[in-house]
Amino acid sequence: MDFTKQLLQWYHKSKRDLPWRRTKDPYLIWLSEIILQQTRIDQGLPYYEKFVSAYPTVELMARADEQDILKLWQGLGYYSRARNMHEASRMIVRQFNGTFPDTYDGIRSLKGVGDYTAAAVASIVFGLPFPVADGNVIRFISRFFGITESTDLASTKKRILETARDHLDHRDPGDFNQAMMEFGATQCTPANPSCPSCVFHKACFAFKQGMVAELPARSQKTKVRSRYIHYLVVTCTLGGEDYIYLNKRTGNDIWKNMFDFPQLELPEGIKQDHPLKVGDLKKFFPADQSGLPITHFQGVSSKYDHLLTHQRLHAWFYHFRPEQKIEWPYLLVPMKRLDDYPVPRLVDRYLKDFLYLCV
Ligand code: SF4
Repeated sequence: MDFTKQLLQWYHKSKRDLPWRRTKDPYLIWLSEIILQQTRIDQGLPYYEKFVSAYPTVELMARADEQDILKLWQGLGYYSRARNMHEASRMIVRQFNGTFPDTYDGIRSLKGVGDYTAAAVASIVFGLPFPVADGNVIRFISRFFGITESTDLASTKKRILETARDHLDHRDPGDFNQAMMEFGATQCTPANPSCPSCVFHKACFAFKQGMVAELPARSQKTKVRSRYIHYLVVTCTLGGEDYIYLNKRTGNDIWKNMFDFPQLELPEGIKQDHPLKVGDLKKFFPADQSGLPITHFQGVSSKYDHLLTHQRLHAWFYHFRPEQKIEWPYLLVPMKRLDDYPVPRLVDRYLKDFLYLCV
């Protein structure tokens, strides 16, 4: 039996029942593809359900505030995906009169949509013959067809995509693409794939050559940069109500338009695995933090580590409780409204511990 036929047979028998597989609504399929980029299905599924329930149509998403979108996305990471998704929903309303584009180029023109997402939506919803090559497909193809060159190389990625294109089922490219991804995700897994029971094991290059653990080949290691962040958590009571200062992140750094605390970051290259003495904090204060009353220091948290794709963050939270409001260029918000503000997972982890200590 040929490869394509065997793959589709396996898919129709073994595919997982997922909500976006029960619809052909382009908005919902696109939403699922954006949420599932760099995210496992079990982690992404509750987010998909939350977004569908809050924004069942593209018009409703386009009308939403970015802060509400980020709040719903909180915990999923890669927040630029959420901002781009929101902008894309506005593009659909503005440039396509609210109708999801039905060509590859139209879908590809949406903010945050790359070759992979455009091919996935175009094939699954509109039956257009564009192959996909996400991490699951790259692994499966390089093992089965014996592509041993590094998959970091553009030439290898091109060859993998060509291989997928050569085997694409033109009657149902959407099912073919989903089958390739599903097979990589559930059978031809990164560690300990179930080779002996795999329907392809007799013809699989990697299995026959004993190279399953070596493929896909990689040549580059991702460089990870360490950052040391000292957060200033300042609370005060005004009129009997507790308040806290928040910082809205702007610029092109991580977590744009999300909220954290006023902070000091040590210059790049300084390594550190303990908190600063509170007197030493002052040495790093920029002018806008000179108003911090360090005499009202109450304590510092233990270290919180947080790993992003290219950055390892090490953070401490220094707690200050001045007797009155201080003159600071930050947002002073009632503690009981904290839930309205989208915060990165690192800050969320701290807040959960901190609020636990406060009650
Ligand atoms: S035999 Fe193993 S390596 Fe080959 S396709 Fe099947 S699961 Fe993947």
